[in-house]
Amino acid sequence: MVTIKSRSEIEKMRAAGKITGDALREIEKHIKAGISTLELDKIAFDFIKKQGATPSFLHYNGFPGSICASPNSWVVHGIPSKNIVLKEGDIISIDMGAQKDGYHGDAARTYAVGKVSDEAKKLIEVTKQSFFEGIKYATHGAKLGDVSSAIQEYVEKNGFSVVRDLVGHGIGKNLHEDPNVPNFGHKGRGLKLAQGMTIAVEPMVNAGGYEVVQLDDGWTVETEDGSLSAHYENTILITKGECEILTL
Ligand code: MG
Repeated sequence: MVTIKSRSEIEKMRAAGKITGDALREIEKHIKAGISTLELDKIAFDFIKKQGATPSFLHYNGFPGSICASPNSWVVHGIPSKNIVLKEGDIISIDMGAQKDGYHGDAARTYAVGKVSDEAKKLIEVTKQSFFEGIKYATHGAKLGDVSSAIQEYVEKNGFSVVRDLVGHGIGKNLHEDPNVPNFGHKGRGLKLAQGMTIAVEPMVNAGGYEVVQLDDGWTVETEDGSLSAHYENTILITKGECEILTL
């Protein structure tokens, strides 16, 4: 069931979203060669706690971290580890959420570690821009397929592919709620968006094919062909005008 948030729920989602966006900015300051993804996880945990919030991902379905940290060909759900140390030329996707007063924010960014290849740079930029292309259509009365198809079109026009097996989602009291928010689809199809819906729009974009595989740890999702992957996500609020981005 897709829920419509009340005015007071929206206030709480703004608060959770702000902490989520601020936490990502804090993490970004520490992205450099030599830091492990476990150290980044600790920075996120401490920052979220300091804001009087709780890391949404920690223990979610048993996930052991406060962030998902997915370098290079890893798409999403990488488990933070002291053995994964960033090096010059890597790209690293950080996905995280914060819960405050019972409501969640969820957002992701992909960062370059030092100087990266032209392909990596373009992948990061196209992935981010695809989000903004999609949300141009995220307004009261539009169809979810309008958003999904705009993301897909922009990504494919730039020579990359959108992951099919993982999608965005509604969000609120629960980290994952209805509806599913695919990054591919057809204009004019799907759920009719309405004022007060809160959804996480999160293009996952591969430099190669869209196929992904899950690793033996039960979490990590990697591109099947080993190509690079990037991720960009924000929690948004549907309004009668432009949507409001809650996690910038
Ligand atoms: Mg999400």
